[in-house]
Amino acid sequence: MSKHEFQTEVTQLLDLMIHSLYSNKEIFLRELISNSSDALDKLNYLSISDDKYKDLKYEAKIEIKLDKDAKTLTISDSGIGMSKDELIKNLGTIAKSGTKSFVEKLSGDAKKDSSLIGQFGVGFYSAFMVANKVEVISQKATSKSANIWTSEGGGSYELESYKKDTHGTTIILHLKDDESEFLEPYRIKSIIEKYSNHIPFPIFLEESKEEDGKTEITNDQINKASALWRMNKSEIKDNEYKDFYKSISHDSEDPTLYIHTKAEGTIEYNTLFYIPKSAPFDLFRVDYQSGIKLYVKRVFITDDDKELLPTYLRFVRGVIDVEDLPLNVSRELLQQNVILSKVKKASVKKILGELKKLKNKDFEAYKKFYEVFGRVLKEGIMGEFENRDLLLELLLFKSSKRDELIDLSQYKEAMGEDQKEIYYITGESASMLKNSPLIEGFDEKGIEVLILDEEIDTIVIPNIGQYKEIPLSPANSANIDKEGVDTKELDEKFAEILVKMREELKDEVKDIKISTRLKKSPACLVYDKEDPDFAMQQMLKQMGQESPAVKPILEINAEHEIFAKLEKSKDFVTLTNVSHILLDLAKLSEGMKIEDSASFADRVNKLIVGSL
Ligand code: ADP
Repeated sequence: MSKHEFQTEVTQLLDLMIHSLYSNKEIFLRELISNSSDALDKLNYLSISDDKYKDLKYEAKIEIKLDKDAKTLTISDSGIGMSKDELIKNLGTIAKSGTKSFVEKLSGDAKKDSSLIGQFGVGFYSAFMVANKVEVISQKATSKSANIWTSEGGGSYELESYKKDTHGTTIILHLKDDESEFLEPYRIKSIIEKYSNHIPFPIFLEESKEEDGKTEITNDQINKASALWRMNKSEIKDNEYKDFYKSISHDSEDPTLYIHTKAEGTIEYNTLFYIPKSAPFDLFRVDYQSGIKLYVKRVFITDDDKELLPTYLRFVRGVIDVEDLPLNVSRELLQQNVILSKVKKASVKKILGELKKLKNKDFEAYKKFYEVFGRVLKEGIMGEFENRDLLLELLLFKSSKRDELIDLSQYKEAMGEDQKEIYYITGESASMLKNSPLIEGFDEKGIEVLILDEEIDTIVIPNIGQYKEIPLSPANSANIDKEGVDTKELDEKFAEILVKMREELKDEVKDIKISTRLKKSPACLVYDKEDPDFAMQQMLKQMGQESPAVKPILEINAEHEIFAKLEKSKDFVTLTNVSHILLDLAKLSEGMKIEDSASFADRVNKLIVGSL
């Protein structure tokens, strides 16, 4: 016998489990059965793909036994099993990426933590919510030796070799005194019916009944084992869809949407997709877990293929089951498979289409979805050409004119007849953008500007190009449609001032121009169309790319009193000062920093003294 320490994160998780922050303890059974089902899936796959397993005879099933005297609940499966090393790795550590940061996020606040755990999915360890001692006896398929793993929660577990008749895993839960409800057959049946009715393997419950002084043992199948995704839609109830979701996703919330497709045309397949309510903890990690299980004719092939759906749909959970693939299709060749790529194509269309339906039918629910997954969806704009139009319809935007979120079709509807472009502005904060001098002119003309305050917008939105043949234009572009305004007269009137200012600020700006867009503010910064603007430069910097030194163009508002007075007084000493101050103020209104704040303060002070 050997004693082992749990990895620190496991001990921390177990501590939470044991002090039971989870109100919904019954889910331990769902988690253990889901593990058994996965183990059976894995063995089934090997028995068709790997010669070593071809001759293995076994009945794929899960068995539950209840012993009221010993107060134990036992779950056995004839799945792949675990070797000694695997027991150590799988049940002593958490291999999931991001575990550390996950555990660090746990706060000790029961309510908050339980929803986090719901997203993380602690699986096996949930056994310790109801048991004070757990034994795992496991024998790897094709191996002759078994091991027993025992733990009472604490910081450690024990391992010993063991004698087992067949391959697979048996888990014995020694239930806590106050968890005796889980020794009642009716209770177990109702949990199984709720969460595990439609996993693709049969679950048997062994019951012993006393009748006329005789003990009779029955062993009945208690689930339908129907592989829900293969059933007819008309046979499936709403709550069955939702409960099945929980059994495959570890999520404790209902999904926002489920999408069930039975295709029977040239290619035959079943897909069942779910859109979760909350983001999985690894949504923005490079090494995120795929949420899609691939089956071929009901036989599990893989749950680790990120190519089954595009990355911008990586939040989708569910099952793809294809009829027309050879069972021994190699996982490596999946990506080149023509049938599978057709299924993928149809699935993407279907999912986007259903999201659009949700948007039209229940905008409030769609907004909630968008808040959580909109950012991910936007990534699709970059690489998706085929469904780009559909994807564009799904995007929501803040607006300079309205408080609620709008989509591009609403923007288009509200456009005036003369308006030829869709205008947008990007930056860090919506409130700052709404008050930006850059959109004063648009405001005055009643033109709506899309307010884009997410980091990803800077990259994605310029990529859109056009929507229904209307080009998208940044509001801070120097070449923005001047709509027939001629500044020649003003250029002449303020020629002297412009020359002086250009001379004074030549190191900092590309040019100084009379603005046609400013109405209240004296000046603003714009960029040449081919230059990255400030938000873009910030983005490049964050991605570790040195952006080329780009100088903005300073636009000045010739109608502002400052310039009227300067033009009259020809006070060029003050103008020197004012030029710098105006540039610095324009920077501030864009969310930029003033590099030399001491000089700025100096100049303002000088101006104050002059005015006193
Ligand atoms: P998850 O199922 O999310 O990976 P768990 O903590 O539930 O996390 O399980 C950890 C690992 O232990 C599984 O990934 C699997 O490799 C292994 N495992 C758990 N239960 C079984 C079982 N019944 N048969 C074989 N392997 C199992």
